[in-house]
This record gives sequence, C-alpha cells and structure tokens, in this order.
Amino acid sequence: MSYVALYRKYRPATFDEVIGQDHIVRTLRNQILQDKISHAYLFCGTRGTGKTSTAKIFARAVNCPHAKTHNGNPCGECDVCNTVGNANLDIIEMDAASNNGVDYARDIREKVQYPPVNGRYKVYIIDEVHMLSVGAFNALLKTLEEPPQHALFILCTTEVHKLPATILSRCMRFDFRLVPAPMLAKHIASIYDREGKQYSPEAVAAIAQAGEGSVRDAVSIADRCYAMSEGKLQYSDVLNVLGVSSRQNIASLAEAVLCNQPAQILSETDQLVSEGKDVLRLNKDLSLYVRDLLTVKVCENANSMLMLPQDAFEQLQQLADKVSVDKLLYAIQQFVDAENGLKYALSPLMLFEATALRVASSSGEVDFDGLDKRVTRLEQLPQNIGADSRRMYVVDKTDPKSIWKGVKMALDMRNEPLLSGVWSDVRVSFDAQRNFVLRCSEGSYWLIENKYKKILQAEVGQFCDGKLIVELDDSPTDSEIDKQLSGLGKNVTFD
Ligand SMILES: [Zn+2]
Repeated sequence: MSYVALYRKYRPATFDEVIGQDHIVRTLRNQILQDKISHAYLFCGTRGTGKTSTAKIFARAVNCPHAKTHNGNPCGECDVCNTVGNANLDIIEMDAASNNGVDYARDIREKVQYPPVNGRYKVYIIDEVHMLSVGAFNALLKTLEEPPQHALFILCTTEVHKLPATILSRCMRFDFRLVPAPMLAKHIASIYDREGKQYSPEAVAAIAQAGEGSVRDAVSIADRCYAMSEGKLQYSDVLNVLGVSSRQNIASLAEAVLCNQPAQILSETDQLVSEGKDVLRLNKDLSLYVRDLLTVKVCENANSMLMLPQDAFEQLQQLADKVSVDKLLYAIQQFVDAENGLKYALSPLMLFEATALRVASSSGEVDFDGLDKRVTRLEQLPQNIGADSRRMYVVDKTDPKSIWKGVKMALDMRNEPLLSGVWSDVRVSFDAQRNFVLRCSEGSYWLIENKYKKILQAEVGQFCDGKLIVELDDSPTDSEIDKQLSGLGKNVTFD
C-alpha cells in the first residue's frame, strides 16, 4: 500500500475529532440537532486550523440521515457518508484560487438550481473565497440573496478583510482560532501512539511549538520527523528536521546579546551563517529564545509550560537571572520589528547584526527610538508651531537685534497691524547706560510715541533692564541714497 501522509490519514472525520475549535463545533452540532441550518456560512482563520475539514464534516452531517442519533456527527456508515470526493454529487468543493472568474460563479448560480441527488442539501464548499474577482462576487451575491431551499454555501478564507461587506452580511461567520501548543502536542502524541511510534515528550512539544497554532503544519512536521528517525523520536531529531540552529548556538548568541558582548555577537553570528543558517530563521530562533527567557522570568510554572529537556531549562534559568524584564521586552520588540525588514533587506545579515548590537548596548529601560518619535510628534503639534514660536526662539540679551526680534514675536501675537510697518524701519542699539534705543523715521516715531510706547517698554523690559528711548532718525536710509544716486545720471563719477 502506498504511503499516506499523516495529515490526510488523520484528517478529522467527525466533529469530535476537530481540534481546538470547540466554540464552532458546538454551534454547528446544535444546528444539526435542532434542524436550524442556514444557507451561507463563512469560515475564516489562519491556514491549517481546520476550516476545510470542518466544512467537509458539516457538509456530510447535513446530508446524513443518522446525524441526529450520532450527536450531530456524520455516521460514517450510510451511503451519503461513504461516497467521497467527486463521487458525492451533493457536495461540490471548489478552489477559488484557480477558478476565480465570473463564468465560474455564474456556473454555480445555474447548477445550484438543480436539487440534490441523495441528501437534503446541495453543499458548495468554496475554498480561498477571497480570490474571487469582483464580477464573480457579484454573481455569487445574487445566489446568496435568493438561494434555493436545498442550497448550502460554505465559504472558507484566510483573508476575510478582502471580502465585500455585502457577502459578509449574508453569511454566518465563524472564526477559527490558532490551536494552543499543548493541544497540538497532545494531538501529535496520539497520532504517534496510533502509529506505534515512540517519542520523548520534549520532541513532541518541539513539534507543537514549530506548528505555530496550525494543526496541518504541526502534523506535517510530525510526518517528516517520523520518516527521518529510527526508533524513539528525540528532541534533537526534531531540531534536525526543522533546521533550527542548534539550541546551544542560539543560547550562546542570546547570552552575548543580552550581556552586551559585541565581539561575541559578531563571531557567533558569523559562525552560524557560515554553517548555512538562514538569517531570517536565526532572527526568529533568537526571538523565540528570548521569549522563553521571559517565560522563565515571569512564570512560576515555566518548566511545565516550555516542556524543555532539563539541562536546556537550567541554562535558560541561569541567563534569565542575569537580565531584567525590561531588557527582554526591548529585545523581543527589536527582533520582531526587524523580521519584516529582513525579508526585503539587500543585506539581511547586516540588519540582523545591527539589531543585535543595538539590543546589546541598550539597558532596555530607555527606548531612544520611542523618545525620538515622541519629541518629533510634540514639535509637530499645531499649538507648537508658528502661533507661539517665541517659545522656540531664545533671545540673546546682549544683542539689541535679538531683543528686538523677541519683542516682535511677542507683539505678533497681540495682533497690532499698525506696528508691522515699524519693524523694518527701526535701527536698534544700546546706549552707554544700557538703555534700549530705537531710531526710526518720522512716521514710526509718531506712532510709537503716541500709541505703542507703553507696550513696547513692557516687552523690551522682559529682556533688558534699561529704559526704552525712541529717537527720530533724520539720516536717509540706504534705499533713499540709491534712489538719489541713480537720479544723478551716468556722467557722474566718484573717487
Ligand atoms: Zn451517514
């Protein structure tokens, strides 16, 4: 007999076997038991969490005449349950990724009118439904608006935000969750048990971790481990299969980073990369390691949570004792932030090293990036620009021009339009007694003496202890001299 992948062999056949989606299974099961089946369902969630498997179970259960006596599950014995794949004319599975055109949706619309052959419902399971084109969505919408009594649609998607609201509003939505690692570990262990494969608990825990919440991923990793190892599956076998940089190497790199040993960081990284480790993977392994450290630091039952071999756990503990929680949090943030950049960086190695060195040199308590961003944001707040720019201007009290600029900024806010002509017309200086002397032409002189002297005195007083003295300036300005010179004509020369 040919080899069947574990994932296919242990695909759930009943609701009881679906892992980690109790909230969904309960509702679907009740709908079958109470005969309250609606016409359109939307299953969304990350890949490998059981959307398609659950859709297939539900499709069989609604058509199985014995489902009610099997607690909502398809009985697995009748004709309906045993006709699988394309042979079951009442369950039509489609992949929107390869058939996304409008013709395809119209085809559904036409064929859905024909009643089911064996069961009560004609079930359409449309996988990756977000890949449908706009036209196809519209055609599908028409069908969803007025479905025939016997029609049942199950739309599955990993990217629910790409679906039009009109479709969403017509479906009963179920969100599939990521499956927690302990639950995945239990599942893998039970598969190995049934296959007669021996394993260490740490090995299974490592597989579950690597699955990152996806049953499919975890089981296919388990499959690879199974094929690779003879006899009892060990923790190190799993690491080999995953291509995870050896935990020992990651541990010493983490120590170099968290204890600020720059030379060590560069040499460890260099060694790992020259052995062929992918930088993105390295970054991920390192952040996972730091997360483990954090777990040890803050959780009392870290040992049972992490499920690591004893020596690996003790090593974690020793390093965790040397580092503050702040620093660990800072490190995680930096490595997670770097992850995206690494995918597109021309030189991922350099980016990784820079990140590691930055984490190393920071105490983690002050986040300079964050401070810098905050200062910039404050500067850009409307109330801090223009309206009160005097706050930004530092007056030099020894320089009359600088004082005059400060006064001008203060008066700008008082909105005195008559004063605006005065500024450029005035020459400022200190006299021998450090009084503030304004020399200006007749118009400005009159304006200041009669109207603004008090205000100006008050403002000047902010920066200078002397009195404000206003003098009439009879000497012509530069521009007046120019005007007179040009009137003399070209035949005049100056020595
Ligand atoms: Zn059945």
